[in-house]
Amino acid sequence: MQLYNKLSAKERAALIEKAGKDRLTLSFYQYAKIENPQEFRDHLFLTWNNLDVLGRIYVAQEGINGQLSLPAENFQDFKTHLDTIDFLKDIRLNIAVEQDNMSFLKLKVKVRHKIVADGLNDDTFDVTNKGIHVGAEKFNELIEDENTVLVDMRNHYESEIGHFKNAVTPDVDTFRESLDIIEDDLKAHKEDKNLVMYCTGGIRCEKASAYFKHKGFKNVYQLEGGIIEYTRQIKEQELDNKFIGKNFVFDDRRAEKISDDVIAQCHQCGSPFDVHTNCANDACHLLFIQCDTCKTEMDNCCSTNCKEINALPYEEQKALRKGQANSNDIFKKGRADHLPYKKDLRNIFEKFPKTESKN
Ligand SMILES: [Zn+2]
Ligand SMILES: [Zn+2]
Repeated sequence: MQLYNKLSAKERAALIEKAGKDRLTLSFYQYAKIENPQEFRDHLFLTWNNLDVLGRIYVAQEGINGQLSLPAENFQDFKTHLDTIDFLKDIRLNIAVEQDNMSFLKLKVKVRHKIVADGLNDDTFDVTNKGIHVGAEKFNELIEDENTVLVDMRNHYESEIGHFKNAVTPDVDTFRESLDIIEDDLKAHKEDKNLVMYCTGGIRCEKASAYFKHKGFKNVYQLEGGIIEYTRQIKEQELDNKFIGKNFVFDDRRAEKISDDVIAQCHQCGSPFDVHTNCANDACHLLFIQCDTCKTEMDNCCSTNCKEINALPYEEQKALRKGQANSNDIFKKGRADHLPYKKDLRNIFEKFPKTESKN
């Protein structure tokens, strides 16, 4: 019985190409009580491996969070299998806007403590007391209301390439960090404003909305299914699109284009650009935005230092890394002083100055 992925990414890519079949990329999540995550995980792996599913799926006692791809022709079998699991029956599947057969190259089903690393102690608040879920039409109405504060619950490198018009985009590296900043900046408006939030696929808002209600916010709304489902609904219902730029996604596609606007810039030269890359130096791998010209000039590296190291023979690079602490870890999500055009997203709450809370 094979319970784990055995093929390398390269071998898998070759197989997908050879099969020549269209694949669907999709995501879903569900909070539910799972008594034995390991057993559930093995069951999923065995079934989905047979359906040629690839992706990253987290299973925990609190539920499941999956992002995956599968051959389009297996979709019905996959759906039928989901429907055999009581808490996944008729679940909304977020189908990707832009399809790419190579979005995932391995099937990884992992047992985790939580399905999102949210940094929260769930025993301290009622996680089931969530905000009001709204679809695209109601969301568009709400965000035009001047009594609304629209907050992006994602991290800085995500909102940098795309976000809703007039959204507050906290300059944070983690979800946990953003909760305190938002609460602090909006504490004078817990009762008189609508707090409307959104994220990629909706999962982060499930906890965030409950957390803010616990903190005393009275009018909390969340975009159901996140940006992915919003995009589907505005197309289907022919609504106005209020999202500008790209939706950052966590697979090999990196982003989906939602509008034609390019709102970011190359971190090295400042020209308009919105494609993330990882620094080619294996000791760095910084996630940053680099235009094609800079990519050629810098050999896909984030600094001249990285470029020099990357040009060394492999064995020499390895010797250099030996015994070195992973000092770049904290910068991996796109922060480094040597990138002059990395946008500073701070001063985000100018519309609602902090001083008001002193009254
Ligand atoms: Zn550039
Ligand atoms: Zn680098």
